[in-house]
Amino acid sequence: MIEEILKLKKEKKVIILAHNYQIPEIQDIADFVGDSLELAKKASEIKDAKIIVFCGVKFMAETAKILSPEKKVLLPDLDAGCPLADMAKYQDVLEMKNKYPDAWIVSYVNTNADVKSITDVCCTSANAEKVVRNVPVKRIIFLPDKNLCWYVKQKVPEKEIICWEGYCFVHRKFNVDELKKAREKYPTAEIIVHPECDPDVQKLADGIYSTSGMIKRAKESNSKIFIIGTEEGLLHRLKKENPDKEFYSLGTGKICPNMKKITIEKLYQSLKEEKYEINLSYDIIEKAKKSLERMLEYI
Ligand code: SF4
Repeated sequence: MIEEILKLKKEKKVIILAHNYQIPEIQDIADFVGDSLELAKKASEIKDAKIIVFCGVKFMAETAKILSPEKKVLLPDLDAGCPLADMAKYQDVLEMKNKYPDAWIVSYVNTNADVKSITDVCCTSANAEKVVRNVPVKRIIFLPDKNLCWYVKQKVPEKEIICWEGYCFVHRKFNVDELKKAREKYPTAEIIVHPECDPDVQKLADGIYSTSGMIKRAKESNSKIFIIGTEEGLLHRLKKENPDKEFYSLGTGKICPNMKKITIEKLYQSLKEEKYEINLSYDIIEKAKKSLERMLEYI
C-alpha cells in the first residue's frame, strides 16, 4: 500500500503533510512533518503541487485551504475533528465580540475556519505570548484554550485577557502526581510540557514549549533524558532526530484518538479517490486569511 501511495503521489502531484501527532507510518511517508501552521505555510510555498493531503485534524486541513485556496486540499477522514476547536462556536464568539466591542479576538490556530473569519488575529502556542503583547489594544478575548490563555496571562500581565473556557482533553490528562513520579524515577531528566496542560503541571515542569519548541529544545539542550508532556505521537520524531537521547512520555495514555483516525489505508483511499475535499466559501477564506496574515505583523 505504501508503494501504491508513493506511485499515486507522483502521478497526481500530491504533497502529503503530517502533523507531529500522527502515527509513525504516516509521519515516515509524509513530505513534511510539523505543527499545523508550519505545514500550512509549507503547502502554500510549494508551487508545483496540485493536491495537498493533510494528515491531521479538520481545522488543520482548513488552514491549509485558507493559505492555498487554488489547491485541492484533502483530509483522509472527515471525522478527524478537534474537540478543542469545536468548543469555540461561531455564534458564541460573535456574541462575545459584541459584548466587548473594544476587545480584540485572539484565536489559537486550533479553531474552525468560520471562527477564524471573525478573529482579529490568530496565534500559535509558540507565538501566543508575542502576539498578545504586541497587539495595539489592552483588552483581549483569547480562545479557545484556557490553559494556553493562563500561560499567556502570566507572561503578559499588562493586558486584560478574557479566557475562553475550552480545553484539550488529551493535555488535560497530564497531572501533578505523574510529574512527581517521573521526577523521582528520572532525577536528571528535563521535563517539558505543552501550554495546553493544566497550570499546576506547567508550574512544576522545567520548561513549557509548543511541539515545534520541544523539537528545538531537545536538539539544543545538553540534557540526555527528556520527559515529554504532549501527545505521544511527538516521541517518534524526537527519537528519530535525536538518536543519542532518551525520551519518555509523561505518564501513559496521552493519545488523541482524532489524530489517530488517519491510517495508511485511509491515506491510500484519499489519494486514489481524491476524498474528502475541504471546501470553504470565498468569503470565509478571505476573512480567515487576514487573521492569519495579521499574526505575522505581531511576532
Ligand atoms: S491533541 Fe487536543 S488540540 Fe490536538 S487535535 Fe487532539 S483534541 Fe485537538
